[in-house]
Amino acid sequence: MARVVVLGAGVSGHTAALYLRKLLPQEHEIVVVNPKPTYNWIPSNIWVGVGKMGHDDVVFELGPIYKKQGITFVQGKAFALWPEGDADDARPAVEVEHTSAGRDGEHEKIRYDYVINATGPKLNFGATPGLGPDAGNTLSVCTPDHATEAAGRLAELKTRLRTQKQTVVIGVGHGTCTCEGAAFEYTFNVEHELREAGVRQNAEIVYLTNENELGDFGVGGMQFEQNGYRTSSELWTQSLFRERGVRAITGAAVTSIEPGVIHYDQLDGSHNDLEFDFAMLLPPFKGNDWKAFDREGEDITSTVFAPSGFLKVDADYTPKPYEEWTAKDWPRTYQNPTYRNVFAVGIAFAPPHQISKPRATPDGVAVAPSPPRTGMPSGTMGKVVAKSIADMILKGAPAPTHSASMSEMAAACVASAGHGFRSGTAAAMTMSPVVPDWEKYPETGRDLKATKGEIGLSGHWVKRMLHTLFIYKAKARPGWTWIPE
Ligand SMILES: Cc1cc2nc3c(=O)[nH]c(=O)nc-3n(C[C@H](O)[C@H](O)[C@H](O)COP(=O)(O)OP(=O)(O)OC[C@H]3O[C@@H](n4cnc5c(N)ncnc54)[C@H](O)[C@@H]3O)c2cc1C
Repeated sequence: MARVVVLGAGVSGHTAALYLRKLLPQEHEIVVVNPKPTYNWIPSNIWVGVGKMGHDDVVFELGPIYKKQGITFVQGKAFALWPEGDADDARPAVEVEHTSAGRDGEHEKIRYDYVINATGPKLNFGATPGLGPDAGNTLSVCTPDHATEAAGRLAELKTRLRTQKQTVVIGVGHGTCTCEGAAFEYTFNVEHELREAGVRQNAEIVYLTNENELGDFGVGGMQFEQNGYRTSSELWTQSLFRERGVRAITGAAVTSIEPGVIHYDQLDGSHNDLEFDFAMLLPPFKGNDWKAFDREGEDITSTVFAPSGFLKVDADYTPKPYEEWTAKDWPRTYQNPTYRNVFAVGIAFAPPHQISKPRATPDGVAVAPSPPRTGMPSGTMGKVVAKSIADMILKGAPAPTHSASMSEMAAACVASAGHGFRSGTAAAMTMSPVVPDWEKYPETGRDLKATKGEIGLSGHWVKRMLHTLFIYKAKARPGWTWIPE
């Protein structure tokens, strides 16, 4: 009998756990550790943030689903890995702090045969003084609670806009942020809401980003072929900004935020101030606060985890100039090279390098979008790692049997630009591969036939349908495996 422990019940971990349960007979135990008793379909937090959905539309209880599936659920937060076991027990373990009402604060070592780190990002609001809704001066849509608060503040903004001019700033709150697509979505959803409310004329809307140019999205932008013409995500995105009257500030690193004023530096060396009445800025991501120990209790954190807190996997982490990185540096199996029964998927694995070219201001402030690991690749990684582990347990496979590199896999991303059955819009993008492969596709880094972009009402319907489908899948309802990641 083997025990597989999955840390984190987000897109990648929950997918891995459901596939493991499907693939492994009941004598093998699947344990999921997650700090909250609920699952959050994060992409729809954008619609919570504009009041088009409620908190409960994007969240559901994990307990009943895991009970039905035969998955053990532990409500807790993993904080230390003991991949060689400890002085008392040679079996590897993960140390967890319980967070459920009855056991809050209690520590437990859960022994494992295989562990998957799928703990996603730590929202690093502390990286920028004044950033964030808890201890800072800006809003967020990263969690359902943050998004609910943002919706309330947006309603107040609409009231003020009836009689006053207001400045709305949406974007990213640090030079190394990722997830620019989510900031883009929130910008255009807010713009749409203000138009629907008849108050748009009093709002100046500013998109503040670390992307070097619009349409970069942390993946170095994209080139498409449309109606026989070559176009770029930059041109395509610029036209939406022009059409909706949204001002963009690119190549910016937010350095601090005071009530009503954002301070940011730009690549030309300028130090700038931007006044705001409403601001939603995403935080940079880092790995969770992990520690790792060997059998004797010696700290081996730097062997297992990168300085960012993300777990090292089968990537090539040799330091090289940006120009020398290649698609082959990206991981394929998500297995830790030192401890072969440790895996990391989704945002929790350490990427080998940036996809967008990193830059810095003359003062050395980084303006370097981090590589996004969006829902589709995260779910795919969860699935392939589950299949590999199942083969290692059931067939004695000596190495992972399934792979999915971001430099080979395609991803689709539908960025909402306004919610509404008739009036909604979304920018739908597909790219293949996510990480450009300049050897295979010397001209554009990607397969032009499989890289596409389109803006329109149909994209909104797709995005709305995906909400329903992915929540159905996450609830492991009949036929869930037919819905792709
Ligand atoms: C506002 C927003 C909108 C987005 N929109 C889109 C979109 O439209 N399309 C798209 O493809 N992607 C989108 N993304 C990105 C998408 O949400 C991520 O790619 C995806 O959630 C990553 O999955 P993950 O499993 O790595 O992390 P997560 O989904 O964040 O899951 C991590 C899980 O681990 C848990 N956890 C954290 N710490 C611990 C710990 N110490 N121990 C145990 N568990 C822990 C967390 O509570 C969480 O449940 C969006 C992101 C944001 C913030």
